[in-house]
Amino acid sequence: MPDVFADLVGQDEAVVELRRAAAAAAAVLRAGAAALVTAGPNGGDGSAGDDAVTGVDPSAGMTHAWIFTGPPGSGRSVAARAFAAALQCVHGTGCGECPGCHTTMGATNADVRMVVPEGLSIGVGEMRALVLRAASTPSGGRWQVVVIEDADRLTEAAGNALLKAIEEPPPRTVFLLCAPSTHPDDISVTIRSRCRVVPLRQPPAAAVAEVLVRRDGIAPDVAQWAASAAQGHVGRARRLARDPEARKRREAVLAVPRRLTGVGAAFDAASALIEAAEAEAEASVTEADTTERAALETALGAGGTGRGAAGALRGAAGQLKELEKRQKSRATRAQRDALDRALVDLAGFYRDALTMALRAPVAPVHTDTAALAGAGAQKWDADGALRRLEAVLACRAAIEANVKPRIAVEAMMLALWKG
Ligand SMILES: [Zn+2]
Repeated sequence: MPDVFADLVGQDEAVVELRRAAAAAAAVLRAGAAALVTAGPNGGDGSAGDDAVTGVDPSAGMTHAWIFTGPPGSGRSVAARAFAAALQCVHGTGCGECPGCHTTMGATNADVRMVVPEGLSIGVGEMRALVLRAASTPSGGRWQVVVIEDADRLTEAAGNALLKAIEEPPPRTVFLLCAPSTHPDDISVTIRSRCRVVPLRQPPAAAVAEVLVRRDGIAPDVAQWAASAAQGHVGRARRLARDPEARKRREAVLAVPRRLTGVGAAFDAASALIEAAEAEAEASVTEADTTERAALETALGAGGTGRGAAGALRGAAGQLKELEKRQKSRATRAQRDALDRALVDLAGFYRDALTMALRAPVAPVHTDTAALAGAGAQKWDADGALRRLEAVLACRAAIEANVKPRIAVEAMMLALWKG
Protein backbone atom coordinates (compact mmCIF):
# COMPACT_ATOMS: atom_id res chain seq x y z
CA MET A 1 0.00 0.00 0.00
CA PRO A 2 1.44 3.39 -0.95
CA ASP A 3 1.67 6.44 1.31
CA VAL A 4 -1.74 7.66 2.57
CA PHE A 5 -1.41 10.92 0.61
CA ALA A 6 -0.87 9.14 -2.73
CA ASP A 7 -4.48 9.54 -3.86
CA LEU A 8 -4.63 13.26 -3.19
CA VAL A 9 -4.43 14.26 -6.83
CA GLY A 10 -2.60 17.44 -7.84
CA GLN A 11 -2.45 18.95 -4.31
CA ASP A 12 1.30 19.15 -3.68
CA GLU A 13 1.22 22.23 -1.44
CA ALA A 14 -1.52 20.88 0.80
CA VAL A 15 0.31 17.56 1.15
CA VAL A 16 3.49 19.34 2.27
CA GLU A 17 1.54 21.26 4.94
CA LEU A 18 -0.29 18.15 6.18
CA ARG A 19 2.91 16.11 6.39
CA ARG A 20 4.52 18.85 8.45
CA ALA A 21 1.51 19.00 10.78
CA ALA A 22 1.44 15.21 11.21
CA ALA A 23 5.12 15.27 12.16
CA ALA A 24 4.47 18.07 14.66
CA ALA A 25 1.54 16.12 16.11
CA ALA A 26 3.78 13.08 16.55
CA ALA A 27 6.32 15.30 18.31
CA VAL A 28 3.60 16.51 20.70
CA LEU A 29 2.73 12.91 21.52
CA ARG A 30 6.37 12.00 22.07
CA ALA A 31 6.83 14.98 24.37
CA GLY A 32 3.69 13.99 26.26
CA ALA A 33 4.94 10.43 26.66
CA ALA A 34 8.33 11.61 27.92
CA ALA A 35 6.64 13.86 30.47
CA LEU A 36 4.55 11.01 31.76
CA VAL A 37 7.68 8.94 32.27
CA THR A 38 9.63 11.69 34.06
CA ALA A 39 6.70 12.70 36.26
CA GLY A 40 7.36 9.99 38.81
CA PRO A 41 5.66 9.47 42.18
CA ASN A 42 7.89 12.16 43.84
CA GLY A 43 7.93 14.96 41.28
CA GLY A 44 4.63 14.78 39.48
CA ASP A 45 3.78 18.49 39.23
CA GLY A 46 3.37 18.17 35.50
CA SER A 47 5.64 21.10 34.67
CA ALA A 48 7.94 19.06 32.45
CA GLY A 49 4.96 17.99 30.39
CA ASP A 50 3.63 21.52 30.08
CA ASP A 51 6.98 22.84 28.90
CA ALA A 52 7.39 20.10 26.37
CA VAL A 53 3.94 20.67 24.89
CA THR A 54 4.07 24.46 24.80
CA GLY A 55 7.57 24.25 23.36
CA VAL A 56 6.05 23.17 20.01
CA ASP A 57 5.39 26.16 17.76
CA PRO A 58 1.65 25.91 17.10
CA SER A 59 1.74 28.01 13.93
CA ALA A 60 4.17 25.68 12.20
CA GLY A 61 2.84 22.53 13.73
CA MET A 62 -0.36 21.01 14.84
CA THR A 63 -3.70 22.53 15.68
CA HIS A 64 -7.05 21.16 16.86
CA ALA A 65 -9.32 22.30 14.08
CA TRP A 66 -8.89 22.29 10.32
CA ILE A 67 -11.03 23.19 7.32
CA PHE A 68 -10.39 21.58 3.94
CA THR A 69 -11.85 23.71 1.16
CA GLY A 70 -12.04 23.23 -2.59
CA PRO A 71 -14.45 22.60 -5.45
CA PRO A 72 -16.47 19.36 -5.52
CA GLY A 73 -14.27 16.43 -6.49
CA SER A 74 -11.02 18.17 -5.54
CA GLY A 75 -10.59 15.62 -2.75
CA ARG A 76 -11.61 17.41 0.47
CA SER A 77 -12.68 14.23 2.22
CA VAL A 78 -9.79 12.27 0.70
CA ALA A 79 -7.40 14.85 2.18
CA ALA A 80 -9.14 14.78 5.56
CA ARG A 81 -9.02 11.00 5.74
CA ALA A 82 -5.36 10.87 4.70
CA PHE A 83 -4.50 13.44 7.36
CA ALA A 84 -6.47 11.46 9.95
CA ALA A 85 -4.44 8.39 8.97
CA ALA A 86 -1.18 10.31 9.28
CA LEU A 87 -2.24 11.39 12.78
CA GLN A 88 -2.92 7.77 13.77
CA CYS A 89 0.20 6.48 11.98
CA VAL A 90 2.63 4.94 14.47
CA HIS A 91 5.49 6.61 12.57
CA GLY A 92 3.65 9.94 12.38
CA THR A 93 4.13 10.06 8.63
CA GLY A 94 1.13 8.38 7.06
CA CYS A 95 3.34 5.50 5.92
CA GLY A 96 0.38 3.49 4.63
CA GLU A 97 1.81 0.30 6.13
CA CYS A 98 1.19 0.42 9.90
CA PRO A 99 -2.01 -0.54 11.75
CA GLY A 100 -2.88 3.14 12.39
CA CYS A 101 -2.77 3.93 8.66
CA HIS A 102 -4.54 0.72 7.66
CA THR A 103 -7.43 1.02 10.06
CA THR A 104 -8.01 4.69 9.29
CA MET A 105 -7.96 4.20 5.52
CA GLY A 106 -10.19 1.15 5.94
CA ALA A 107 -12.64 3.12 8.11
CA THR A 108 -12.28 0.79 11.10
CA ASN A 109 -10.14 2.93 13.42
CA ALA A 110 -11.99 3.38 16.72
CA ASP A 111 -10.56 6.88 17.18
CA VAL A 112 -11.58 8.26 13.78
CA ARG A 113 -15.18 9.21 13.10
CA MET A 114 -16.34 10.17 9.64
CA VAL A 115 -19.59 12.14 9.68
CA VAL A 116 -21.24 11.98 6.29
CA PRO A 117 -24.50 13.88 6.28
CA GLU A 118 -27.22 12.07 4.40
CA GLY A 119 -29.95 14.68 4.56
CA LEU A 120 -29.76 18.30 3.54
CA SER A 121 -28.25 19.29 6.86
CA ILE A 122 -26.47 17.96 9.95
CA GLY A 123 -28.67 18.40 12.99
CA VAL A 124 -27.83 19.55 16.47
CA GLY A 125 -28.61 16.20 18.11
CA GLU A 126 -26.14 14.37 15.89
CA MET A 127 -23.51 17.02 16.55
CA ARG A 128 -23.92 17.03 20.34
CA ALA A 129 -23.54 13.25 20.50
CA LEU A 130 -20.47 13.49 18.34
CA VAL A 131 -18.83 16.23 20.37
CA LEU A 132 -19.43 14.24 23.54
CA ARG A 133 -17.82 11.10 22.18
CA ALA A 134 -14.95 13.07 20.69
CA ALA A 135 -14.02 14.26 24.16
CA SER A 136 -13.14 10.76 25.35
CA THR A 137 -9.54 9.56 25.61
CA PRO A 138 -8.28 8.03 22.36
CA SER A 139 -8.28 4.26 22.75
CA GLY A 140 -5.23 3.90 20.50
CA GLY A 141 -3.27 6.40 22.60
CA ARG A 142 -2.89 8.98 19.83
CA TRP A 143 -5.72 11.33 18.73
CA GLN A 144 -9.48 11.38 18.60
CA VAL A 145 -10.22 12.56 15.06
CA VAL A 146 -13.64 13.73 13.91
CA VAL A 147 -14.04 14.29 10.16
CA ILE A 148 -17.13 16.29 9.18
CA GLU A 149 -17.81 16.04 5.46
CA ASP A 150 -19.97 18.80 4.00
CA ALA A 151 -19.60 21.00 7.06
CA ASP A 152 -21.46 23.62 5.01
CA ARG A 153 -24.57 21.54 5.69
CA LEU A 154 -24.42 22.05 9.46
CA THR A 155 -27.55 23.63 10.89
CA GLU A 156 -26.94 26.81 12.87
CA ALA A 157 -27.57 25.02 16.18
CA ALA A 158 -25.24 22.18 15.19
CA GLY A 159 -22.60 24.73 14.21
CA ASN A 160 -22.86 26.30 17.66
CA ALA A 161 -22.47 22.94 19.37
CA LEU A 162 -19.37 22.30 17.25
CA LEU A 163 -18.01 25.78 17.93
CA LYS A 164 -18.08 25.18 21.67
CA ALA A 165 -16.00 22.04 21.24
CA ILE A 166 -13.54 23.81 18.93
CA GLU A 167 -13.18 26.74 21.31
CA GLU A 168 -12.15 24.52 24.18
CA PRO A 169 -10.91 21.35 22.55
CA PRO A 170 -10.09 18.30 24.66
CA PRO A 171 -6.27 17.94 24.57
CA ARG A 172 -6.23 14.96 22.21
CA THR A 173 -9.14 15.78 19.92
CA VAL A 174 -8.80 17.00 16.33
CA PHE A 175 -11.68 18.26 14.15
CA LEU A 176 -11.34 18.08 10.37
CA LEU A 177 -14.09 19.93 8.49
CA CYS A 178 -14.71 19.81 4.74
CA ALA A 179 -16.52 22.63 2.94
CA PRO A 180 -16.59 24.11 -0.57
CA SER A 181 -15.11 27.41 0.65
CA THR A 182 -14.67 29.62 3.70
CA HIS A 183 -17.45 31.95 2.51
CA PRO A 184 -19.79 32.76 5.44
CA ASP A 185 -22.57 30.93 3.52
CA ASP A 186 -20.52 27.74 3.81
CA ILE A 187 -18.97 28.05 7.25
CA SER A 188 -19.66 30.47 10.06
CA VAL A 189 -17.12 33.23 10.59
CA THR A 190 -16.54 32.19 14.20
CA ILE A 191 -15.83 28.56 13.33
CA ARG A 192 -13.61 29.69 10.48
CA SER A 193 -11.62 31.92 12.86
CA ARG A 194 -10.78 28.91 15.04
CA CYS A 195 -9.59 26.65 12.21
CA ARG A 196 -6.54 26.36 10.01
CA VAL A 197 -7.61 26.35 6.35
CA VAL A 198 -6.15 23.93 3.79
CA PRO A 199 -7.22 25.10 0.33
CA LEU A 200 -7.37 22.40 -2.35
CA ARG A 201 -7.50 23.29 -6.03
CA GLN A 202 -9.31 21.71 -8.93
CA PRO A 203 -6.80 19.09 -10.04
CA PRO A 204 -5.61 19.34 -13.66
CA ALA A 205 -7.07 16.74 -16.04
CA ALA A 206 -3.64 15.18 -16.61
CA ALA A 207 -3.22 14.49 -12.88
CA VAL A 208 -6.70 12.97 -12.67
CA ALA A 209 -6.02 10.76 -15.70
CA GLU A 210 -2.73 9.65 -14.16
CA VAL A 211 -4.38 8.44 -10.95
CA LEU A 212 -7.14 6.62 -12.88
CA VAL A 213 -4.48 4.70 -14.80
CA ARG A 214 -2.24 4.02 -11.81
CA ARG A 215 -4.78 3.20 -9.14
CA ASP A 216 -7.81 1.93 -11.03
CA GLY A 217 -6.05 0.27 -13.94
CA ILE A 218 -8.06 2.22 -16.53
CA ALA A 219 -6.72 2.38 -20.10
CA PRO A 220 -4.85 5.67 -20.69
CA ASP A 221 -7.06 6.93 -23.55
CA VAL A 222 -10.27 6.27 -21.58
CA ALA A 223 -8.73 7.88 -18.49
CA GLN A 224 -7.80 10.97 -20.48
CA TRP A 225 -11.28 11.34 -21.92
CA ALA A 226 -12.99 10.77 -18.56
CA ALA A 227 -10.70 13.20 -16.71
CA SER A 228 -11.47 15.92 -19.21
CA ALA A 229 -15.23 15.23 -19.29
CA ALA A 230 -15.40 15.23 -15.48
CA GLN A 231 -13.84 18.71 -15.30
CA GLY A 232 -11.41 17.95 -12.49
CA HIS A 233 -13.82 15.89 -10.38
CA VAL A 234 -11.87 12.75 -9.51
CA GLY A 235 -14.79 10.58 -8.36
CA ARG A 236 -16.91 11.55 -11.36
CA ALA A 237 -14.03 10.78 -13.73
CA ARG A 238 -13.71 7.30 -12.26
CA ARG A 239 -17.46 6.69 -12.61
CA LEU A 240 -17.48 7.85 -16.22
CA ALA A 241 -14.53 5.60 -17.01
CA ARG A 242 -16.08 2.55 -15.39
CA ASP A 243 -19.86 2.79 -15.37
CA PRO A 244 -21.71 2.53 -18.72
CA GLU A 245 -24.89 3.88 -17.07
CA ALA A 246 -23.08 7.05 -16.00
CA ARG A 247 -21.82 7.46 -19.59
CA LYS A 248 -25.34 7.00 -20.97
CA ARG A 249 -26.75 9.62 -18.61
CA ARG A 250 -24.06 12.06 -19.63
CA GLU A 251 -24.76 11.47 -23.33
CA ALA A 252 -28.46 12.14 -22.75
CA VAL A 253 -27.63 15.45 -21.08
CA LEU A 254 -25.28 16.48 -23.87
CA ALA A 255 -28.00 15.68 -26.43
CA VAL A 256 -30.17 18.45 -24.93
CA PRO A 257 -28.76 21.36 -26.99
CA ARG A 258 -29.61 19.82 -30.35
CA ARG A 259 -33.06 18.75 -29.21
CA LEU A 260 -34.19 22.29 -28.36
CA THR A 261 -36.17 22.96 -31.52
CA GLY A 262 -39.20 24.75 -30.08
CA VAL A 263 -41.19 25.62 -26.96
CA GLY A 264 -42.69 22.14 -26.64
CA ALA A 265 -39.28 20.54 -27.08
CA ALA A 266 -37.86 22.83 -24.37
CA PHE A 267 -40.50 21.67 -21.86
CA ASP A 268 -39.97 18.05 -22.90
CA ALA A 269 -36.24 18.42 -22.36
CA ALA A 270 -36.87 19.90 -18.91
CA SER A 271 -39.10 16.96 -17.95
CA ALA A 272 -36.57 14.46 -19.28
CA LEU A 273 -33.74 16.06 -17.29
CA ILE A 274 -35.74 16.15 -14.05
CA GLU A 275 -36.95 12.58 -14.46
CA ALA A 276 -33.46 11.31 -15.25
CA ALA A 277 -32.17 12.94 -12.06
CA GLU A 278 -35.00 11.38 -10.08
CA ALA A 279 -34.32 7.94 -11.52
CA GLU A 280 -30.60 8.21 -10.85
CA ALA A 281 -31.23 9.35 -7.29
CA GLU A 282 -33.73 6.60 -6.64
CA ALA A 283 -31.33 3.95 -7.88
CA SER A 284 -28.68 5.29 -5.50
CA VAL A 285 -30.82 5.38 -2.33
CA THR A 286 -33.38 2.55 -2.64
CA GLU A 287 -31.06 -0.20 -1.55
CA ALA A 288 -29.86 1.71 1.52
CA ASP A 289 -33.46 2.61 2.46
CA THR A 290 -34.65 -0.99 2.36
CA THR A 291 -31.70 -2.29 4.36
CA GLU A 292 -32.11 0.42 6.99
CA ARG A 293 -35.81 -0.17 7.42
CA ALA A 294 -35.36 -3.92 7.73
CA ALA A 295 -32.61 -3.43 10.31
CA LEU A 296 -34.72 -1.05 12.36
CA GLU A 297 -37.76 -3.32 12.23
CA THR A 298 -35.68 -6.27 13.38
CA ALA A 299 -34.23 -4.19 16.20
CA LEU A 300 -37.73 -3.13 17.21
CA GLY A 301 -38.98 -6.69 17.29
CA ALA A 302 -41.22 -6.74 14.21
CA GLY A 303 -42.38 -10.27 13.44
CA GLY A 304 -42.70 -11.08 17.14
CA THR A 305 -46.10 -12.46 18.18
CA GLY A 306 -46.26 -11.88 21.94
CA ARG A 307 -48.19 -9.09 23.59
CA GLY A 308 -44.86 -7.40 24.40
CA ALA A 309 -43.86 -7.31 20.74
CA ALA A 310 -47.10 -5.59 19.74
CA GLY A 311 -46.60 -2.94 22.40
CA ALA A 312 -43.01 -2.38 21.39
CA LEU A 313 -44.08 -1.92 17.78
CA ARG A 314 -46.66 0.73 18.73
CA GLY A 315 -43.95 2.60 20.64
CA ALA A 316 -41.65 2.21 17.66
CA ALA A 317 -43.91 4.08 15.26
CA GLY A 318 -42.09 7.27 16.18
CA GLN A 319 -38.72 5.77 15.34
CA LEU A 320 -39.93 4.52 11.99
CA LYS A 321 -41.34 7.95 11.22
CA GLU A 322 -37.99 9.48 12.12
CA LEU A 323 -36.26 7.04 9.75
CA GLU A 324 -38.69 7.87 6.94
CA LYS A 325 -38.02 11.57 7.44
CA ARG A 326 -34.29 10.99 7.20
CA GLN A 327 -34.67 8.85 4.10
CA LYS A 328 -36.84 11.45 2.41
CA SER A 329 -34.29 14.13 3.07
CA ARG A 330 -31.55 11.85 1.73
CA ALA A 331 -33.58 11.23 -1.45
CA THR A 332 -34.03 14.97 -1.97
CA ARG A 333 -30.33 15.52 -1.58
CA ALA A 334 -29.49 12.69 -4.01
CA GLN A 335 -31.86 14.21 -6.59
CA ARG A 336 -30.27 17.62 -6.25
CA ASP A 337 -26.79 16.15 -6.58
CA ALA A 338 -27.79 14.21 -9.71
CA LEU A 339 -29.39 17.27 -11.26
CA ASP A 340 -26.36 19.37 -10.41
CA ARG A 341 -24.03 16.91 -12.14
CA ALA A 342 -26.21 17.15 -15.26
CA LEU A 343 -26.09 20.95 -15.15
CA VAL A 344 -22.31 20.92 -14.79
CA ASP A 345 -22.08 18.74 -17.92
CA LEU A 346 -24.38 21.09 -19.79
CA ALA A 347 -22.42 24.14 -18.65
CA GLY A 348 -19.29 22.43 -20.01
CA PHE A 349 -20.91 22.14 -23.43
CA TYR A 350 -21.79 25.85 -23.65
CA ARG A 351 -18.39 26.75 -22.26
CA ASP A 352 -16.88 24.78 -25.16
CA ALA A 353 -19.08 26.70 -27.63
CA LEU A 354 -17.98 29.98 -26.02
CA THR A 355 -14.25 29.22 -26.12
CA MET A 356 -14.58 28.12 -29.77
CA ALA A 357 -16.48 31.30 -30.69
CA LEU A 358 -13.71 33.30 -29.04
CA ARG A 359 -11.06 31.09 -30.69
CA ALA A 360 -9.50 30.72 -27.25
CA PRO A 361 -6.52 28.33 -27.21
CA VAL A 362 -7.98 25.97 -24.58
CA ALA A 363 -8.93 22.31 -24.82
CA PRO A 364 -12.65 21.49 -24.89
CA VAL A 365 -14.28 19.93 -21.82
CA HIS A 366 -16.30 17.45 -23.85
CA THR A 367 -14.12 16.15 -26.66
CA ASP A 368 -16.92 13.90 -27.94
CA THR A 369 -19.34 16.79 -28.54
CA ALA A 370 -16.71 19.28 -29.71
CA ALA A 371 -18.08 19.27 -33.27
CA LEU A 372 -21.59 20.08 -32.01
CA ALA A 373 -20.23 22.86 -29.79
CA GLY A 374 -18.34 24.20 -32.83
CA ALA A 375 -21.58 24.35 -34.82
CA GLY A 376 -23.21 26.18 -31.91
CA ALA A 377 -20.35 28.65 -31.81
CA GLN A 378 -20.91 29.45 -35.51
CA LYS A 379 -24.63 29.89 -35.07
CA TRP A 380 -24.73 31.80 -31.78
CA ASP A 381 -21.47 33.72 -31.77
CA ALA A 382 -19.69 34.44 -28.47
CA ASP A 383 -22.54 36.54 -27.05
CA GLY A 384 -25.14 33.86 -27.65
CA ALA A 385 -22.91 31.11 -26.24
CA LEU A 386 -22.21 33.23 -23.15
CA ARG A 387 -25.92 33.92 -22.60
CA ARG A 388 -26.62 30.19 -22.74
CA LEU A 389 -23.78 29.37 -20.36
CA GLU A 390 -25.15 32.00 -17.99
CA ALA A 391 -28.62 30.45 -18.22
CA VAL A 392 -27.23 27.10 -17.03
CA LEU A 393 -25.31 28.73 -14.18
CA ALA A 394 -28.39 30.76 -13.18
CA CYS A 395 -30.37 27.51 -12.99
CA ARG A 396 -27.80 25.99 -10.64
CA ALA A 397 -27.88 29.11 -8.47
CA ALA A 398 -31.69 29.12 -8.40
CA ILE A 399 -31.85 25.48 -7.28
CA GLU A 400 -29.21 26.20 -4.67
CA ALA A 401 -31.46 29.02 -3.45
CA ASN A 402 -34.37 26.57 -3.10
CA VAL A 403 -36.32 27.40 -6.25
CA LYS A 404 -38.32 24.31 -7.23
CA PRO A 405 -36.00 22.34 -9.56
CA ARG A 406 -38.64 21.83 -12.27
CA ILE A 407 -39.36 25.55 -12.53
CA ALA A 408 -35.68 26.46 -12.61
CA VAL A 409 -34.93 23.84 -15.28
CA GLU A 410 -37.90 24.89 -17.45
CA ALA A 411 -36.79 28.51 -17.32
CA MET A 412 -33.28 27.41 -18.29
CA MET A 413 -34.45 25.29 -21.23
CA LEU A 414 -36.51 28.18 -22.60
CA ALA A 415 -33.52 30.50 -22.26
CA LEU A 416 -31.30 27.95 -24.03
CA TRP A 417 -33.79 27.65 -26.87
CA LYS A 418 -34.41 31.41 -27.29
CA GLY A 419 -30.73 32.22 -26.78
ZN1 LIG B 1 1.53 4.48 9.24
